[in-house]
Amino acid sequence: MRHPGSIQEVVENGLCIGCGLCEALTENLNMKLTERGVLRPQGTLRRDEEIQLLSACPGAVAASHIETGSQMDEVWGPWQKLVMAWSAEPDVRFQASTGGVLTALGRYALDAGLAEFVLHAGVHATDPLRTDWVISDTAEEVLDNSGSRYGPVSVLAGLKAALARNAPFVLIAKPCDISAARLLAISDTRMADNCVAMLTMVCGGLSDLTKTREAVAGAGVAEKDVAEFRYRGFGTPGPHRITLKNGRYIDIDYNSMWSRDEQGWRIQQRCKICADPIGEAADVAVSDTWPGGKPAADDPGHNGLIIRTGRGADLVQAATEAGFLTTAETLDARQFDEWQPHNVRKKRAIQPRCLGLDDQGQPSPEWRGLRVPELAENLESFKREREGTAQRAANGAFREGSNLKLIETPVED
Ligand SMILES: Cc1cc2nc3c(=O)[nH]c(=O)nc-3n(C[C@H](O)[C@H](O)[C@H](O)COP(=O)(O)OP(=O)(O)OC[C@H]3O[C@@H](n4cnc5c(N)ncnc54)[C@H](O)[C@@H]3O)c2cc1C
Ligand code: SF4
Ligand code: SF4
Repeated sequence: MRHPGSIQEVVENGLCIGCGLCEALTENLNMKLTERGVLRPQGTLRRDEEIQLLSACPGAVAASHIETGSQMDEVWGPWQKLVMAWSAEPDVRFQASTGGVLTALGRYALDAGLAEFVLHAGVHATDPLRTDWVISDTAEEVLDNSGSRYGPVSVLAGLKAALARNAPFVLIAKPCDISAARLLAISDTRMADNCVAMLTMVCGGLSDLTKTREAVAGAGVAEKDVAEFRYRGFGTPGPHRITLKNGRYIDIDYNSMWSRDEQGWRIQQRCKICADPIGEAADVAVSDTWPGGKPAADDPGHNGLIIRTGRGADLVQAATEAGFLTTAETLDARQFDEWQPHNVRKKRAIQPRCLGLDDQGQPSPEWRGLRVPELAENLESFKREREGTAQRAANGAFREGSNLKLIETPVED
């Protein structure tokens, strides 16, 4: 299979997820919201910048991070411990997305002086429907920026500011972002030296902003009247809440927003061929724990943790001992299958989907250590997945315009 040879090829073949690395590693690319409601790089780049970008860009490559001594599950990847946990602080557990584990680990790292700040995601400064990268310097700010936000966000654009601080930090981001960050750390010592923990969530996909806008319009609200749009939290999962400038609010039930078939999620094309929706490059990946992948009702919040590295295990243990985290029973990888049926289905379907792209002469990312061919062995729907993706590609589903210009500069070997 062919992989993209340029950032333009990544974007034009629907493989960009808008991670923001383009903005962090170049002088003249910026992440911009397109009319379709996705974030894409725009501007000019030099070939030397492009070479560095291509070594980590999630549209070009994604990789598992396997430490010596890890156990390996065919579906769930490398792991050292699998446990159930939640924030030991009741208000954090209530306010956060699930059990507040990501928030708890960020808060502990700041409190213990392991990190000076957390780079993660929060509400956009001027548009409450949008999401932006944020730097939290205090434990209070980490809590303020808790909660899942399903719309587009370029967390890695914040690496420009984060790396300029030359100080220890925690990164909380989606699995594709974490793969890029881990790969960047191979070539960038600022990243290797300063990023003390890479934390992620298991990820069903990133919606276009159109999904959020439709929800607001569907509730009969004009965007200009929205003061706050919250996706979940304040309970698990808690409601999607549209708070108006006049103080009134409208709640949308989680299941009515997400329980339709996956077509209704409006996720980006890169997500549909994502070989790592489970954070195989992270120190710790956390998930929801609802049987069948859907909440039956609100509950107090329980995260399933896939602790993948020694650093992740140390962080979880120290946060537990310091009273930030409650760690409960040991889990079995097959419990994650039960909680994440959509992600298991996707992991198994990546090989035929990428072959479908190949059939149409379109590239797909290089998957390193992600067991893509092995997971598709004996897949009953192999032919259907391949032909379906080929058909969608033929219909132009993976074609996008780009607003990029390469400035040719001589590169020294
Ligand atoms: C796009 C998306 C898809 C998801 N799909 C699944 C799924 O299929 N299965 C599943 O089990 N769980 C999924 N989750 C994760 C789940 O919703 C919980 O967020 C997760 O279990 C973490 O819970 P928590 O209580 O520890 O999070 P919290 O303590 O509330 O912390 C969440 C952290 O994530 C950061 N964050 C929020 N949104 C984003 C974003 N878009 N990009 C990067 N960072 C972000 C926040 O800044 C915060 O630091 C998804 C989350 C997102 C954002
Ligand atoms: S996925 Fe990230 S690095 Fe790749 S083109 Fe998009 S913004 Fe740039
Ligand atoms: S599904 Fe994969 S590509 Fe899409 S946001 Fe999640 S980790 Fe990134």
